[in-house]
Amino acid sequence: MEMQIKCPKCKGTKVVKRGVSPTQNRGKQQIYLCKPCKKTFIQDLGFWKMKNNEQVVTKAIDLYFSNLSSRKVRNHYRRHEGIKTSHVSVLDWCRKYVLKVTKFVETLKPELSGELYVDETDIPRGYNTKKKGGDKFWCSVDWRTRYINATL
Ligand SMILES: [Zn+2]
Repeated sequence: MEMQIKCPKCKGTKVVKRGVSPTQNRGKQQIYLCKPCKKTFIQDLGFWKMKNNEQVVTKAIDLYFSNLSSRKVRNHYRRHEGIKTSHVSVLDWCRKYVLKVTKFVETLKPELSGELYVDETDIPRGYNTKKKGGDKFWCSVDWRTRYINATL
């Protein structure tokens, strides 16, 4: 997929490459020059000003949604990858990118089979998690495509 590079100032597309900028944790980033307005910029691919690189962040999000707690994700990085990050950062990344992905997913027009599978999950919360009266999470999945088309 060819991405058109746009100038953040004038939104123009007449841009040329103008060297690279070294970053501390994300390697070299391409610098662009907008010919009409002379602004130089680095394209934001969604990781603008992130302290950790794309692989670290996407892996942390994947581990978290694979059911590892944010503290276990943090421990994994500390023990096996020599990366000092906090469990709060892991949660921040999940929130940030879930919001980004949600915007994109809302633009999709999935072709569904017309058959749904709906199920509920009890989510206990509070001091006594065995006590009744937690939250209920409902999820509706398209039978054939497994596309999650509704949650409550
Ligand atoms: Zn421009």
